[in-house]
Amino acid sequence: MTVVGRFAPSPTGRMHAGNIFASLVAWLTAKSRGGEVVLRIEDLDRDRSKPEFIDRIPRDYELLGLAWDRGPYYQSDRDEVYAEYYRELKKRDLIYPCFCSRADLLSASAPHRGEKTVYSGRCRDLDETTRQKLSESRRGAMRVRVSSDTYELNDLIQGPYRQYLPEECGDFIIRRSDGAFAYQLAVVVDDALQGVNSVVRGVDLLCSTPQQLYLQDLWGFSHPEYAHVPLLTGSAGVRLSKRNRDASLDDMLAVLKTPEAVIGHIAHITGIIDEYAPVRPEDLLGDFSMERLRDRWRGRIEIPWIAPEN
Ligand code: GLU
Repeated sequence: MTVVGRFAPSPTGRMHAGNIFASLVAWLTAKSRGGEVVLRIEDLDRDRSKPEFIDRIPRDYELLGLAWDRGPYYQSDRDEVYAEYYRELKKRDLIYPCFCSRADLLSASAPHRGEKTVYSGRCRDLDETTRQKLSESRRGAMRVRVSSDTYELNDLIQGPYRQYLPEECGDFIIRRSDGAFAYQLAVVVDDALQGVNSVVRGVDLLCSTPQQLYLQDLWGFSHPEYAHVPLLTGSAGVRLSKRNRDASLDDMLAVLKTPEAVIGHIAHITGIIDEYAPVRPEDLLGDFSMERLRDRWRGRIEIPWIAPEN
C-alpha cells in the first residue's frame, strides 16, 4: 500500500520554524517509504484565513524543496462534501445543538490534564420544546455524541495514548454556531477521501486524535498511522507563533540566506541531523528513520527553539 502523508497548514500566518519542522518530518516519513504527499490548505475559518497567506503557502513549500504530489486542495471549496457526512450523522441522531455560551462552557467543564476542556453534556438531553425555545434567541453549535468507549493509539513518536471518551473527551463540536464545519469533521473527511494514511503533525493535536478515530469509525473509514512531533518552543516554553519573528521563514532566510540553510538549521536543532549543514529535504532521505527520531525524542513534547545566527 502506498504511504500517503499530508501537509495541512492553516493559512493564518506566514510559515515559521514550527510548521516547517512538522512538514519536513511528514514529508520524510512518506517519501522515505516511496510514498506521496497531499497538500491541503485548511482555510475553513474564513475570518482567520488570509488570501495573502493562502497564496504564499504553496510557494514556500516549493522554495523549501518540500514537493507535494497532489493538491493543493482547499477546505473552503468543500462544504458540500462535509455537509453530506454531517447529514449522515444527523440522520443517525448522533448530533444535537448546544446553546451554551463560552462562559457556561468554562464554568461547566473541568479542564482535563491541562489538555482540553471536556463538555459536561448539559445540552445533550434537552427536550424538543426547550431546544425550540433556546434556538429562538441563539443559534446552537452542533455537537456529536461520543460513545462509552476508550480510544487508543500507538503514536509512532509519543507511544501509547488513550482517552475514555465520556470523561476525557466529551461530546464535541462538529459544526460551529455560524454554520462553519469544525476542524474535527473536515480533517477526518479530508484525510479519508484524499487517501491519507500517515498523519504527522504537532503534539498539540495528540489530544484530538481519539475523537478523530471515533469519527472515522462512525463513517467506516480506516485509521491512519499517527506521529506527533514535539513542538518548537520559544522562551518560557511557549510554542512558536507569528510573534516569534526570528522563527519566521522570512527572517530565517534573511539571516541564513538560502532555503537549504533553513532546512539544515531546523533539522539540526531538532536532532534530525547531528551536524549542521545546508541541505535539501531529499538529502535527508537516506538516513531518515522514524525509530531513531522516536528514541531521540522519547517522551519529549517540546524542543527549545534556537534562532539562527549569521
Ligand atoms: N491545520 C492544522 C494546523 O495548521 C493542522 C491540522 C492537522 O494536522 O490535523 O495546525
